[in-house]
Amino acid sequence: MKTLAVFSGKGGTGKTTLVACFAHLAGRAVAVDCDVDAANLGLLLPGDDVHREPFLAGRKATINSTSCRACGACAEACRFDAIAWTGKDWVVDPMACEGCGVCSLVCPKPAVIRYHDNLAGHWMRRRSGSVSLVHAALGVAQDNSGKLVAKVRQEASLWADREGIDLVLVDGPPGIGCPVHAAMGQLDRILVVTEPTPSGLHDLERMLRLAQHFGVSASVSINKWDLAPKLTRIIEEACRTWGVPLAGRIPFDPHVPRLLAAGRLPLEPPVDQDTTAAIEQCWQRFSEGDSAIPNMPAEEPWTEQPL
Ligand code: SF4
Ligand code: SF4
Repeated sequence: MKTLAVFSGKGGTGKTTLVACFAHLAGRAVAVDCDVDAANLGLLLPGDDVHREPFLAGRKATINSTSCRACGACAEACRFDAIAWTGKDWVVDPMACEGCGVCSLVCPKPAVIRYHDNLAGHWMRRRSGSVSLVHAALGVAQDNSGKLVAKVRQEASLWADREGIDLVLVDGPPGIGCPVHAAMGQLDRILVVTEPTPSGLHDLERMLRLAQHFGVSASVSINKWDLAPKLTRIIEEACRTWGVPLAGRIPFDPHVPRLLAAGRLPLEPPVDQDTTAAIEQCWQRFSEGDSAIPNMPAEEPWTEQPL
């Protein structure tokens, strides 16, 4: 089984659009949306979820008020100010509780405090034509996105194995933090999508440094390259210096956002043929393995240079 992933270093570069197009072009694949904080790959891979499961992570404390002595020791010890006096009882605010267990340690009657599993979100499996999708929804104010990313990655691989599908396509989370680290394990190679802007170059560099750290081969695609050809050339030159191949250069096409707004992929008219061809070429190069482990310098000369 081959596992390919698309990252961007930040949101809004067209990463999810490319993953949906790649899944369509591959014909048969399991796509997995690792942006569990704001999952939207499902908008471009419509269909019915065939499975939905709760995702439990961490724990929350509760106080049994009938046996509590109301001494307040737990509230004093709680570093998260999660225990408050209502005028009648001491109660735990589940949004503030981190499940650390200190309250039970200081309580004269520890059995009064119980812990229960925390419902952090849900994960789902969907069929969308010949493409299968594993996606998730993290609950409001939940902070277990790294664990949920690891879960959807695992479920996508299991499903591909069960169904005899030899390609898993990962839509990576934005940024370079914990959820990205969770998404970056056990990958064959990654595509980093960027735009010809100073921040695009900065985010690309950070992403490639991360790929180098994890020892993952990478290639680069420049989205909307023709909006700033000079910056595109600077990014291409930087990629050459870092030893990272360019998989694609995709032009700006005003029809793309219109099609996306209608839930359609930019692989058909009225999208310009050049745009479609650029996406197809990017997929061909990426899927066939035109990539290399980035060779980044210790210092960061590119971000320091005036553009
Ligand atoms: S488990 Fe920790 S965070 Fe939660 S109420 Fe007890 S002391 Fe506070
Ligand atoms: S420390 Fe125990 S007995 Fe005291 S208020 Fe908290 S839960 Fe009740």
